[in-house]
Amino acid sequence: MRETDALYQEMGISQQVLAFGAQVEAELKERFDAIEENVEYNQMKVLHAMQKNRVEAACFAATSGYGYNDLGRDKLEAVYADVFHTEAALVRPQIACGTHALAVALSGNLRPGDELLSPVGKPYDTLEEVIGIRPSIGSLAEYGVSYRQVDLLEDGSFDYPAIEKALNERTRLVTIQRSKGYQTRPTLSVKRIGELIAFIKERKPHVICMVDNCYGEFVEPIEPTDVGADLCVGSLIKNPGGGLAPIGGYIAGKEAYVERAAYRLTSPGLGREVGASLGVMTSFYQGLFLAPTVVGGALKGAVFAANLYENLGFPVVPNGSESRHDIIQAVTFGNPEGVIAFCKGIQAAAPVDSYVTPEPWAMPGYDSDVIMAAGAFVQGSSIELSADGPIKPPYAVYFQGGLTWQHAKFGILMSMQKLYEAGLVKL
Ligand SMILES: *Cc1c(COP(=O)(O)O)cnc(C)c1O
Repeated sequence: MRETDALYQEMGISQQVLAFGAQVEAELKERFDAIEENVEYNQMKVLHAMQKNRVEAACFAATSGYGYNDLGRDKLEAVYADVFHTEAALVRPQIACGTHALAVALSGNLRPGDELLSPVGKPYDTLEEVIGIRPSIGSLAEYGVSYRQVDLLEDGSFDYPAIEKALNERTRLVTIQRSKGYQTRPTLSVKRIGELIAFIKERKPHVICMVDNCYGEFVEPIEPTDVGADLCVGSLIKNPGGGLAPIGGYIAGKEAYVERAAYRLTSPGLGREVGASLGVMTSFYQGLFLAPTVVGGALKGAVFAANLYENLGFPVVPNGSESRHDIIQAVTFGNPEGVIAFCKGIQAAAPVDSYVTPEPWAMPGYDSDVIMAAGAFVQGSSIELSADGPIKPPYAVYFQGGLTWQHAKFGILMSMQKLYEAGLVKL
């Protein structure tokens, strides 16, 4: 027996589960090679941007107070702009999370009387209150910005005639969510996003096309800004933070639109000139540098899980052979016990809080109990291995991340182990 296998067994993975996992993994060489090729390209893209902007030791110094002339902050924004091939970027620890980044980009660029359009169906849950789909204090709706939505067609394709009809003289900004998030629609490839933007720009050249890029960064060699997006927005405790960023978000895009977002984030007149970096710059730079590799590990984990659970007979989205456009993997168990066992396995495999047993609870904002597994170095970080499952039909779990492929693999094996011990999978 391999020494590694002996250690796996000591850590609770049975021989049957190990053997099943090994069989699945043996079939994935081609997929993994393709992932590695994409990692290599994105690693060079990031490195190139860092060299071009002459990143230097002085960039890592902490600034305080107003943060005037913060070299590290300003260069990092130039690096992000080069990675995304945009005119400008806003990358700040003052951006609290992905929702905040999206709210800043939206409210900075929309004015009373404008209309916001989502041509890809309902946006991520937390945006409902930002937009005012669910009434909330300070929503865009309260400021007189109206909202229109066109759902995807049954087969996941764009409803072009309805989108054409929805575009009107008040449409100012179109928001396109790349990732399926916690829905069942397919995630959009960058290519498909490009086709949608081209369609919109042909009819309304001056409309701002914004992409919610959460969970999508570095999954492909190109980003939405390479196919016409005017703004691209995401969270640093997901892909581009590489697991090291302790907080933050980014907005990359056209200079004028990034500037408007900055005027909203800080203040009119101050914009990007203020905002101290407080000593987080090393983790922002180093996290971005590692992000392509980390995303590659998370992708391998997602592909491994899809194939493993597909072989065990469970429906998985995406399926075992589909191309990937984000790092999220859904597995449908069809019963609460499966969801709970899966999450217990992910938790038991964590480097932090592995001894904790997750339980379903009534989380605010959800209409059913939810179970969550996360043993993360950074609270709530979902580039780290994490899972959540609403306790309601079809009893699916959504999981993502893993700072290394090896950890993602162990987590998935442990999830299967818990299902095996509960008698929910037969070998
Ligand atoms: C995570 C996510 C958000 C919100 O990010 P938070 O950091 O949780 O606020 C928005 N959109 C999508 C698609 C996401 O995955």
